[in-house]
Amino acid sequence: MTSSVAPQHVVTRFAPSPTGRLHVGHAWSALLAHDMARAAGGTFRLRIEDIDGTRSRAEHVAGIIEDLTWLGIGWDGEVVFQSRRLESYDAALERLRDMGLLYPCFCTRADIAASMSAPHGPEGPVYPATCRGLSAEERTRRIGAGEAHAWRIDMQEAVVQAGTVTWQAMSFSPLSCPQMEAQVLHKAAPLAHGDVVLARKDAPASYHLSCTLDDAAMGISHVLRGDDLLGATDVHRLLQALLALPSPAYIHHPLLVDADGRRLAKRSGSIALADLRAQGMDAAALVADLRGGRFPVGIGPASA
Ligand code: GLU
Repeated sequence: MTSSVAPQHVVTRFAPSPTGRLHVGHAWSALLAHDMARAAGGTFRLRIEDIDGTRSRAEHVAGIIEDLTWLGIGWDGEVVFQSRRLESYDAALERLRDMGLLYPCFCTRADIAASMSAPHGPEGPVYPATCRGLSAEERTRRIGAGEAHAWRIDMQEAVVQAGTVTWQAMSFSPLSCPQMEAQVLHKAAPLAHGDVVLARKDAPASYHLSCTLDDAAMGISHVLRGDDLLGATDVHRLLQALLALPSPAYIHHPLLVDADGRRLAKRSGSIALADLRAQGMDAAALVADLRGGRFPVGIGPASA
C-alpha cells in the first residue's frame, strides 16, 4: 500500500554508540540524515547512545564530536546523551511491567547458548523463554536474593495487547530527497524476535527501549539508519504502539562494505575518519564524494 506524504517538519538524527572511532560508513549515514533535514528546512539532532557502561568511552564521545565537526556536519540543539535519560527508561519499564508485559530473566549467556533448540530470528538466536514460566514466588525470591537479572518482554502477550501494527518505510535513494519517495506500509513482525531484553543485567535499558523512547522524545519524524537495523524496527514499532508513542517514518540505507563484502567495522583503522584525517584527507572532498555516491577505493554500498 503506498500513500503520498503530507508536508511536515522533518527531524532526523544520527545516533552513534561511543564504542569506537567513526568510520566512513558512519560519515555517510550521518550525512544522509543531515542532508535530508537540511533539504527540507528541518532539524538534525545528535544523540550519543552511551547506556552501555562497559563499552562506551568518553574519548569516543569526543572523537564523534571531532569527526562530525571535521566533516562540517553540524547538528541542532543540545547533544542528547542516553546516560542522562535513565529516569524516562525506568518510567517506561514500570509502565510495561504494570501492563503485565515484562518478566525478570536470570539466564546467563551460557544458559541461552546451551539451549540448542533456540530458533533464529532476525537478530540471531531467539531466547527460548526459559524464565517466562517462573512462578511469581520464585521471581520474588531470586530478585530478593540479589540474583542478577534482565527484564524481557513477553512478546506473545505484547502482540496481543498491541494488535496489528504497521510502520512506514520510505525507499532509500541517496541522490534524491527521501521525503519525495513513495512510502510503503510494512506490517510489523515482532514475534519473530522472541522475548527481547528491554533492561539489561548490566545496563538500565536496552537499545530497543532507549532508542524508541528517545526518538519519540526528540520528535524524530524520519529515522534514517543502516539496514542492519531493519529487523529492530519491528520491535520499535511494537513498543511505540504499547506506549502510545508517535511512529516516525523509517528509511534504511545499505551498509558500506569493503572489497570482500565485509561490513566496515569501527576497529578497521584504515577507514576510521580519524586516520583519514591524519593521512591528510580533505574533509570537504570526502563529503562531496559521499554526496555524489563516490566512496573511497575498495568501499561501497552492499548490494541488496
Ligand atoms: N547506536 C546505534 C549504532 O551505533 C544506531 C541506532 C539507530 O540509529 O537506531 O549502531
